[in-house]
Amino acid sequence: MGIYSRLSALIPDQSCVLCAESAKLCVCHECESSFSNHQPRCKSCAHPIGGKLDFCGQCLAHAPVFNRAYTLYDYQDAIADLIKIFKFDHRLCVGDYFSHQLYDLYQSIVSKGVEYDAIIPMPLSRSRIAERGYNQVLELLNVISKKTNTIIDTYSINRIKATQPLSALNPEQRRQEIKGAFKAQAMNYQSVLLVDDVMTTGSSLNELAKVVLKAGAGSCDVLTLARAESKFN
Ligand SMILES: [Zn+2]
Ligand SMILES: [Zn+2]
Repeated sequence: MGIYSRLSALIPDQSCVLCAESAKLCVCHECESSFSNHQPRCKSCAHPIGGKLDFCGQCLAHAPVFNRAYTLYDYQDAIADLIKIFKFDHRLCVGDYFSHQLYDLYQSIVSKGVEYDAIIPMPLSRSRIAERGYNQVLELLNVISKKTNTIIDTYSINRIKATQPLSALNPEQRRQEIKGAFKAQAMNYQSVLLVDDVMTTGSSLNELAKVVLKAGAGSCDVLTLARAESKFN
């Protein structure tokens, strides 16, 4: 059952944050139906692929250290706007909307028999949290946290380096910039799910996965709201 059917009877009409039309929640049906989620995706990095292969060319040549990546959307058009509203305007209703969507995807993953001992949200530096006032990735996990018993581990990994925004950097510069950004305490999870809002080249998540594996975790998968097309691919 979708979020609309669950909640529509309870919540009065408001307007859609994207088009200002009347909506039951903060996104109307029409905008929601325009959100793109390309299938199939590379099993390793969630990049859209065509044909019958399970993996994209990039992963066949040089696979990330995490095993699988799952995502809800392609980072484009209305969904890119909605993610910017969520990240920079801090609209609670958008965070709530995404948090429900992410819970539904999480449920569909674990219903296939995949188990995670812990979820680790991408840690932000203290200065970034001070600037934004909150860690938006943690907010995305609100519904998973309420409705499942999975540990949301926000304490084992610290961000010890405030990196410059990676968006303007090429993949090699990103790898260099993010290197040494995380510090981990020893952990003994068998399987960990790393969560971030948007994955572009995957360099931040790959670095986080390296640190988590080195700290003792058996394996890592990745879950993001959206997968952006890297202009360097
Ligand atoms: Zn709309
Ligand atoms: Zn791939």
